[in-house]
Amino acid sequence: MNVKILEKNPKHVKFVLEKATPAFANALRQIMVAEIPIMAIDYADIEKNSTGLFDELLAHRLGLIPLKFNPKLFNLREECKCGGRGCSRCEVVFSLEGTGPCTLHSGDLKSNDESVKPADPNIPIVELLEGRTLKLQAVASLGLGKNHTKYQAAVVGYRYMPQIRINKDKCNVCGKCVEKCPEHILQKKSGKITVVNSIECPLCMYCVDNCEKDAIAVTGDSKNIIFTVESTCGLSTQDVIRQALDILDKKLLDFRDELEKVVK
Ligand SMILES: [Zn+2]
Repeated sequence: MNVKILEKNPKHVKFVLEKATPAFANALRQIMVAEIPIMAIDYADIEKNSTGLFDELLAHRLGLIPLKFNPKLFNLREECKCGGRGCSRCEVVFSLEGTGPCTLHSGDLKSNDESVKPADPNIPIVELLEGRTLKLQAVASLGLGKNHTKYQAAVVGYRYMPQIRINKDKCNVCGKCVEKCPEHILQKKSGKITVVNSIECPLCMYCVDNCEKDAIAVTGDSKNIIFTVESTCGLSTQDVIRQALDILDKKLLDFRDELEKVVK
């Protein structure tokens, strides 16, 4: 299996997984979306709230703020040595306080652990009018995307590598396919249809459906898979992919251990 990077920045990675299988690609995608432990606020104790937002709405907004954290320092609450009671290895406490007129942003959340803070300090939480106040404490802990989307680590998509073939004997160069292609992958050049940048083909089949001569064939190569990963949490996209591979590794080791017990 080979990996070829097409685009890369801290929030977004696009790569081709060569000589892979759809089963492997799907396992990787599922883990990235649903099984990486991510830090998010899951409890809020609201002491004073005379703002325009109900307590429930405030708690919901707090839960959606992506938090930066070091995955090596924290445990899932149910796997923590404290037995789930809550300690510095599985919980982080934030406080938020303000009196209007002002707007409280994610950057106003004060954390009891310096290593955990909002990934973006400019997310508006609530606007306070003259004389309105808000005072609350909130607790963040690790969770999994399969239990709540606020813990989803990334938005992940994949598609098969497009393969476009034009049958020159059948093609009458009418140009309808060029006109219909939404990504402008097909071009009419010196009396024939040519394919440019075929990797951008979304496999929509508009060109195939609009070719009266049945001269175009578009297929997806399931052995070469184009992945797009965009982090939606406080971890970089590279860390999301690394963690997903570690989790897949652990699952396989656990499976091998179980198998050893049975076949012994
Ligand atoms: Zn704990």
